[in-house]
Amino acid sequence: MKVNFIAFAIPFFVSFMLLEYFISKNKSKKLHQFNESVANLNVGIAERIADLLTTGSFFFIFTWLNANYSIFSIKSTPTTWVLLFLATDLLWYWYHRIGHTVNLFWASHIVHHQSDDFNYTVAARITVFQAVARGLFWCALPIIGFSPEMITILLLIHGTYPFFTHTQLIGKLGWLEYIIVTPSHHRVHHSSNPEYLDKNYGDMLIIWDKIFGTYAEEITEPHFGLTKSLGSYSFLWQHFHYVLELVVAFRMAKTFRQKVKVIFGGPSDIDGRIRQLLERKYSQKAPDIQYSQKLIRAVVSQTIVTVTVLFFTILFSEYLMGVALFVMTGFIILSVIITGAMLEQKKWIFHLEFVRIAVASYVALSFFSNPYLIVVFVLLGVISVLFYQTIHSRSRELLFSN
Ligand SMILES: [Zn+2]
Ligand SMILES: [Zn+2]
Repeated sequence: MKVNFIAFAIPFFVSFMLLEYFISKNKSKKLHQFNESVANLNVGIAERIADLLTTGSFFFIFTWLNANYSIFSIKSTPTTWVLLFLATDLLWYWYHRIGHTVNLFWASHIVHHQSDDFNYTVAARITVFQAVARGLFWCALPIIGFSPEMITILLLIHGTYPFFTHTQLIGKLGWLEYIIVTPSHHRVHHSSNPEYLDKNYGDMLIIWDKIFGTYAEEITEPHFGLTKSLGSYSFLWQHFHYVLELVVAFRMAKTFRQKVKVIFGGPSDIDGRIRQLLERKYSQKAPDIQYSQKLIRAVVSQTIVTVTVLFFTILFSEYLMGVALFVMTGFIILSVIITGAMLEQKKWIFHLEFVRIAVASYVALSFFSNPYLIVVFVLLGVISVLFYQTIHSRSRELLFSN
């Protein structure tokens, strides 16, 4: 049986998240807020499934670029591996810096910075869009002449390392602080303290920040999150609020020059009042919700189910062709939308839940085409129509009980 080993990244990273959680609890340090952690995981779950769908295409693009447009023909030697590492890290530095300073790219990277917490779950906050934008930057590597195989291996390492810089449990690391990006450097990057804004873009080496003048040492205590906290845990709102802000700003801009500035200017070029306007219209901020134990249990079990489905989808991705993969992706995306909306007590999830159950039934039927299963689903359908009101009030109770 052929399995996709990339799936094991999920239990690997989750075990570090749990370890960090229990160590911080032991030390009586409150590093995790329940809603923040769930929202972070939701973003990460969607990114993993998007990664599964896009990795193959990027390998194909890298191979095509390397075969047709490469400047050099680079063989695999210890020296070229070092060069590839340096080139990748330098490209990342600029990709990341542009991600903060150009609105078009900030619209996707902003999601990584929305959490007011700073722990390993924040490392999972990489958006679907960011995965694509990052891939475009990596296209420079096959054009330089590195082979797609070398690039794929290096990107695996390069993608794993930054996970470990998202923690408050590790202090400064002595002489390593001069060379590599440490948790201390990355804490600065995730802070909204004025002296820390737009600093420490590096991924593995901190030397680029020192060379290009964007380095800051962690001196004062960092305050994590965006300058103006989003205060929303909705998967959809987190992903699209800035895109909407740009659309409004673009429509309000009068001249061509102003319109170009909306897209290619920086976040400070966007009027802060637009966010308030959109929030009033589309995202009534959740007041400080006191989650009931029942709701917490429901959110935790949903998250465990989604992560498990994600793990097996990736593990057996070789056997999931076209429609099946599309349906599994649909189930996972619906799940993270619903879990995010549960954290904000959105009433509309009740109806979306029916769609999710329909998708889950389709998945079950396509894997086990047993006629009795069809009877069970039809019966369940009839029961849900007959007892619609009761199920509806139970779901309200789950969301709003204290
Ligand atoms: Zn960043
Ligand atoms: Zn980060």
